[in-house]
Amino acid sequence: MTTPHRHIVVFGGTFDPIHHGHLRSAIELKELLGADELRLMPSHRPPLRGEPGASSQQRLTMVQAAVEGEPGLRVDDRELGRDAASYTVESLRDLRAELGESVTLTMVVGSDAYARLQHWQQWSSLLDYAHLLVLERADYPLEAAPEVAMAMNARRVSHVADLASEPAGKFASVRLRQLPISATDIRERVASGRSIRYLLPDVVAAHIARWGLYQTK
Ligand code: ATP
Repeated sequence: MTTPHRHIVVFGGTFDPIHHGHLRSAIELKELLGADELRLMPSHRPPLRGEPGASSQQRLTMVQAAVEGEPGLRVDDRELGRDAASYTVESLRDLRAELGESVTLTMVVGSDAYARLQHWQQWSSLLDYAHLLVLERADYPLEAAPEVAMAMNARRVSHVADLASEPAGKFASVRLRQLPISATDIRERVASGRSIRYLLPDVVAAHIARWGLYQTK
């Protein structure tokens, strides 16, 4: 019998702020994939989004506080260490170099991000370093640009469990029960003086209050 390889899952995003929708999905993905570890990887200057409401350091501190004490959830701060725009392909290349060739590496993106994958730097090279798993979100059907759909369908496995048998190079999608929480909605609630309690960890809400984040729309 061969020893199963380690399986690391990376879940990127702006996490502006991190909330229970992200955290529940992180835990469920880790369990579904039978992974050893899931890393939340906040992005520094998202090349395809506007300037986030909290600074990189503040978003990182909130993500760290949110996962504290949760075994199997980690924070990967590599993108915040870069000056330039953060490109996922560079992060995956670095991770692969660190982890070695045999570890299974799976990158998770929401179906909202997947629909714009053709704009990502070297999107077709992502699978050289990791599997790509699309998390189907309620308001975003699984759709992609024709060139992306063609490339991914050629690498598609029908069961997410099949990802574990190879280190990289496959594509899968999954629909999880998702909490209807969004960071945009949380920011809007703060700006209009409404409560955000129970949408995100209390420790994160406390940071938002202490730093006076998201006061303006
Ligand atoms: P915004 O509202 O600012 O766009 P967001 O939460 O949609 O925020 P990110 O912080 O970048 O965006 O999300 C990181 C990842 O989490 C993305 O892949 C996104 O699809 C996913 N995600 C966002 N909200 C949820 C949710 N409620 N449940 C599960 N996954 C989510």
